Amino acid sequence: MKITETFRSIQGESLYSGWPCFFIRTTGCPLRCRWCDTAYSFYGGEDRAVDALVEEAVSSGTFLVEITGGEPFVQPELPELVQKLLDRGKTVLIETSGGFPVPDGLNRDCRLIVDLKPPGSGMDAWMKPEHFSDLGQRDEIKAVVADRGDFDWSVQKLEEWGVWGRVPVTFSPVYGECDPRDLARWVLDSGFPIRVQVQLHKILFDPLLKGV
Ligand code: SF4
Repeated sequence: MKITETFRSIQGESLYSGWPCFFIRTTGCPLRCRWCDTAYSFYGGEDRAVDALVEEAVSSGTFLVEITGGEPFVQPELPELVQKLLDRGKTVLIETSGGFPVPDGLNRDCRLIVDLKPPGSGMDAWMKPEHFSDLGQRDEIKAVVADRGDFDWSVQKLEEWGVWGRVPVTFSPVYGECDPRDLARWVLDSGFPIRVQVQLHKILFDPLLKGV
């Protein structure tokens, strides 16, 4: 499996925000979000055996393992990795771009954090309703918004796709670009069940550094 890095840190952007977590960052992503902070994962990487990744995750001592990218859904060995981590009792999160459907053969005891990329990201054309149709209460949809236009677009898509009440939804402000207080006001005014969050890892750690 092509891997850019593995590390222990604090989960910073999901309903599991704040928990110690072992991260596995896969290599390669077909998208190019304007505010991508992991462009170093687009190319290169190291070939790692699935079993070795599982042993490293278990040795890390965290109950939580997140597979992120890059784009994990383009890795053919993803279902095998997820199954083996689940077999070892881990809670497995997968962070994905929203640009791909759920892969065949993926054990859905894992929890998907599916991005909804609004126009500010430049990647809204990748967002298709069928990528969000198989999600449920154990998953979540995460929109990172740059401005009011992104907020309104995201709310409208989630309404159109019948997501409210079916999948938990979080919205975060683009770091350094959107004031979290503005986002909080928009959420309160909208009346929709949106959980506001900030990118905790960018507050705890230098945005250019990995975790610990
Ligand atoms: S989907 Fe993620 S890794 Fe890919 S370009 Fe967007 S932010 Fe970067």
